[in-house]
Amino acid sequence: MQSYDIVVIGGGPAGLAAAAEAKRSGVDSILILERDHELGGILNQCIHNGFGLHTFKEELTGPEYAKRFMDQVFELGIEYKLNTMVMDITDSKVVTAMNKTDGMFQIQAKAVILAMGCRERPRGALNIPGYRPAGIFSAGTAQRLVNIEGYLPGREVVILGSGDIGLIMARRMTLEGAKVKVVAELMPYSGGLKRNIVQCLDDYGIPLKLSHTVVDIEGKERVTGITIAEVGPDMKPIPGTEEYYSCDTLLLSVGLLPENELSKTAGVELSTITSGPVVNDALETSVEGIFACGNVLHVHDLVDFVSQEAANAGKNAAKYVKEGRVASNKEIKINAVDGVRYTVPCTIRPDQMDDTVTVRFRVGKVFKNSAVTMYFGDEQVLKRKKQIMAPGEMEQVVIDKKKLAEYGDISDITIKIESV
Ligand SMILES: Cc1cc2nc3c(=O)[nH]c(=O)nc-3n(C[C@H](O)[C@H](O)[C@H](O)COP(=O)(O)OP(=O)(O)OC[C@H]3O[C@@H](n4cnc5c(N)ncnc54)[C@H](O)[C@@H]3O)c2cc1C
Repeated sequence: MQSYDIVVIGGGPAGLAAAAEAKRSGVDSILILERDHELGGILNQCIHNGFGLHTFKEELTGPEYAKRFMDQVFELGIEYKLNTMVMDITDSKVVTAMNKTDGMFQIQAKAVILAMGCRERPRGALNIPGYRPAGIFSAGTAQRLVNIEGYLPGREVVILGSGDIGLIMARRMTLEGAKVKVVAELMPYSGGLKRNIVQCLDDYGIPLKLSHTVVDIEGKERVTGITIAEVGPDMKPIPGTEEYYSCDTLLLSVGLLPENELSKTAGVELSTITSGPVVNDALETSVEGIFACGNVLHVHDLVDFVSQEAANAGKNAAKYVKEGRVASNKEIKINAVDGVRYTVPCTIRPDQMDDTVTVRFRVGKVFKNSAVTMYFGDEQVLKRKKQIMAPGEMEQVVIDKKKLAEYGDISDITIKIESV
């Protein structure tokens, strides 16, 4: 069996940034395993601009952003294997993978970094009535068809779900000559970034119907029309509100799910909210020496945050390889309550944490004129007013090690949304 100090699963932006930072932190023996024929992950099909504003203070396309991190990996001489599917990881960090040249092979790793990204929720998860005609695509599949394969999936389009990929595809299909008739969103708010609603829908006069869902798909061989209806507070369609749109294509942008099958085989504890691993401030999972970052940990809004988080995972994995696990005398739980759905990380080790730890989270609904508050024990240590907070945009707070130490023996930190 071959052995490496760190094996990174997935060569998307998270895997690339994690590997590069691990190498810069002094670990040489690193291998990235990627199932696709190229590095860069899903960004290779995201040819629109808007990437990298935080990291590079420039507006890059997805492939340009990915290239910057690929170049770091090449310059640092980090090994990688393409067309290689990881099939299994054990809790003792034996990685089983397969490709055409090596066949099935196993690697013993000292540390593993999970960076497998996420996948789209399929139609099967939605229970929409109707036949199974051609013309129904996930927004990501349509994005790949248009941007990489060079096919236009349809000419008259209805989109269900207002996640960022759906919004981006509304504009993309329009620019390619298709007519996007409507975007229907089940929730009373969009699941995407405000900037994407403005730049991808409003700028092209594409209507967004909130609190609406698809109730019927017409067509046997190919989609011929879609009926949408308004939903009530119980999320059930309201009779009499049906609207019919003739179209040949339905795009689904109804959520992303972290790709955690391998995390499960490794015995990693998963969050019931994010479906990603439960991690501490080092982004270490419940299995010693297995770290997680990027969309496999929680679905991000901006790739810049993926890269920051992944660099942190890479640094901590390198520390683990060099020093082993340093026992921590305490772990403080972070409670996500009153509008905060979850936090990443879920726990903080006050004696082991970095000088500052960024805690990222999403809110569960739209909040106007409210405040993000943080409590160390019972004491409020942060109150940051925000005009608007929405589930489509990630929020963050920073925990300062010195400040935390002033609060002595607290057992928990609480983050919530309060009115001002
Ligand atoms: C369809 C789609 C479209 C998107 N479009 C946009 C967009 O337009 N704008 C935007 O800001 N964000 C977009 N995102 C979000 C974007 O995915 C993230 O910002 C970022 O790419 C996450 O990086 P990552 O490395 O965690 O995941 P990914 O980029 O998904 O990379 C994960 C990598 O892991 C590999 N992998 C997975 N399982 C295995 C395995 N078992 N063995 C080997 N390799 C494996 C995958 O092949 C992939 O290359 C999109 C996401 C999806 C799913």
